Amino acid sequence: MEIELINTGSELLLGRVLNTHQQWLGETLSDAGYILTRQETVPDTAEAICEAVKVALGRADLVITTGGLGPTSDDITRERIAGMLAKPLHHDEAIAEHITSFFARRARPMPESVLVQAQVPEGAVVFSNEHGTAPGLAMELSGTGDGGSPPWLVMLPGPPRELRPMVEAQVLPFIQRELPLAAAFHCRTLRSMGIGESMVEDQLLTRLRPLMDQGLDLGFCARTGQVDIRLCGHGDGVPGLIDEAEALIRGEFGKYIYGTGGESIAQVVVEQLIENGETIAVAESCTGGFLGHHITGIPGASAVFLGGVLSYSNELKQKLLGVRGETLEQHGAVSKAVAMEMAEGARAATGADHALSVTGIAGPGGGSTEKPVGTVWLGLASAGERPLAVKKHHPYNRETFKQVTVNQSLELLRRRIQRER
Ligand code: ATP
Ligand code: MG
Repeated sequence: MEIELINTGSELLLGRVLNTHQQWLGETLSDAGYILTRQETVPDTAEAICEAVKVALGRADLVITTGGLGPTSDDITRERIAGMLAKPLHHDEAIAEHITSFFARRARPMPESVLVQAQVPEGAVVFSNEHGTAPGLAMELSGTGDGGSPPWLVMLPGPPRELRPMVEAQVLPFIQRELPLAAAFHCRTLRSMGIGESMVEDQLLTRLRPLMDQGLDLGFCARTGQVDIRLCGHGDGVPGLIDEAEALIRGEFGKYIYGTGGESIAQVVVEQLIENGETIAVAESCTGGFLGHHITGIPGASAVFLGGVLSYSNELKQKLLGVRGETLEQHGAVSKAVAMEMAEGARAATGADHALSVTGIAGPGGGSTEKPVGTVWLGLASAGERPLAVKKHHPYNRETFKQVTVNQSLELLRRRIQRER
């Protein structure tokens, strides 16, 4: 099945807005077994949009456009595409009422121009917009496609908070109904931290190969410090192949796998703490609160997260966490001993069952031969256990440094609370 995505918006080409639709739709569709075969970004001009849609409809079974369904003068997708396909636009009273009540609920005056969004091309399927005003639209077109059956054109609104829930609740089920896959699709993603993709391949490929010969698709997606191992395929035999592959991978690398599916490491940790009935506190230096930020980003964190100390200076490390002056003098702030004292100090100050600590050199300045930029110590103190600290090296920009450091700090805790050291 050929599926093409056309993202409209000059702001995407000017680099003012990152095209997250490409990534999100690509992932969401492929998780359901629908693979995007082509993607194009076009400016907000009638010629560019119509040309792109026309060419794509001549090739694909499904063409998806995003953006340009709003009420402003640069929002021309619906009108121009309807014009090109010779589909007259009709006023849809139910959509008009939705738009009117959308403004009424927010007590905002409604400009007359917004009602243009209630215009629906003849014969179109309407996807209601729960988070905005412009509905999504789908049209089955006659006989332009190569693939035998006529292609579908789906038009989606630009704002991600409108598009995503619409796709999840309405568009994906619609695609599955109208364009069913030849064989059921199955997919499982093993999320790992601390191993490289080539390591998995080197050690397991010969054993995974027979499963792949039977139809298992093996894919890797490497992010900084993490690797997603994707096991999928079409057909009834695939779930068994996925189970076998997972067992093989876990047999070798089980302790590195923190989850299956879309969950983040923070989510895994918070959920495990909730299950264990345990609490956590943090003591952060170079991550500047990013660790606490990630933990509190998970719904339900209040049941387990007591709080933390953001001790950037040595003085605060001493004053708030009880780190000893001589430890700082002897070992320096970025050291195993200080990481452990920070974690113990956070636990003592909060009474939490576990405390994580982070102290490092994010750079670009401040490094030395002994402690180069990117050096970071991650500490962990837990009730009834000896504190520990591990050294990592993340010579990246400050943002990536923080992200990787936070993930690894959470991974340290995950291994302790899941008792998998
Ligand atoms: P609106 O009613 O808000 O005008 P619209 O359907 O007309 O919605 P656009 O005007 O094309 O959509 O885009 C609205 C906003 O949505 C853009 O300014 C941008 O912030 C966001 N957006 C659009 N396309 C994308 C994309 N591909 N990736 C991420 N964000 C996008
Ligand atoms: Mg717009």
